[in-house]
Amino acid sequence: MEKRIVTNSEQKTISLGHNFSRLLKKGDVLALRGDLAAGKTTLIKGICKGLGVTQDVESPTFTLINEYSGHLPVYHIDCYREHSIRGWIDIGIEEYLYSDGITFIEWASMIEELLPQDRIDINIEQNFDDQNWRGFTFTFPDSHSNSDQLARLSQ
Ligand code: ADP
Ligand code: MG
Repeated sequence: MEKRIVTNSEQKTISLGHNFSRLLKKGDVLALRGDLAAGKTTLIKGICKGLGVTQDVESPTFTLINEYSGHLPVYHIDCYREHSIRGWIDIGIEEYLYSDGITFIEWASMIEELLPQDRIDINIEQNFDDQNWRGFTFTFPDSHSNSDQLARLSQ
């Protein structure tokens, strides 16, 4: 199941993330792809709000992995600075990918071969004629119990 939603402000993206959070369940892994400043972290902020996280949500660019606590444990991984698959395995990324929490991965394409088959993909497009336009495409695996509800998602 796939759904594309366009937003035209940071606030609308936060609100989209908040609505989207209702579709998540424990163990979900979300692979986010999009260029610098596409809105990966902004969307994650909105989702985390919906998941009951009260801590500040920022890209773990240097720490690589942030852990938050919401209704479930939430893990926020950023692959921008560590490109080595071996390095990620040594850090213990598989414990996060196969956990009972919710795991976000920014720059997921850096660790393509480690991503679980049944992950949720989120691709973000930008438009250079309109600096506030963002296109979010959400793809759920058919195996996900809330896959059907994606059709009703709105911003
Ligand atoms: P990333 O994590 O992908 O690098 P961020 O979420 O940190 O991106 O930053 C997104 C930037 O784009 C912010 O400066 C934000 O204000 C800006 N922005 C403009 N329009 C939007 C929009 N529609 N949705 C999200 N962010 C937007
Ligand atoms: Mg980011």
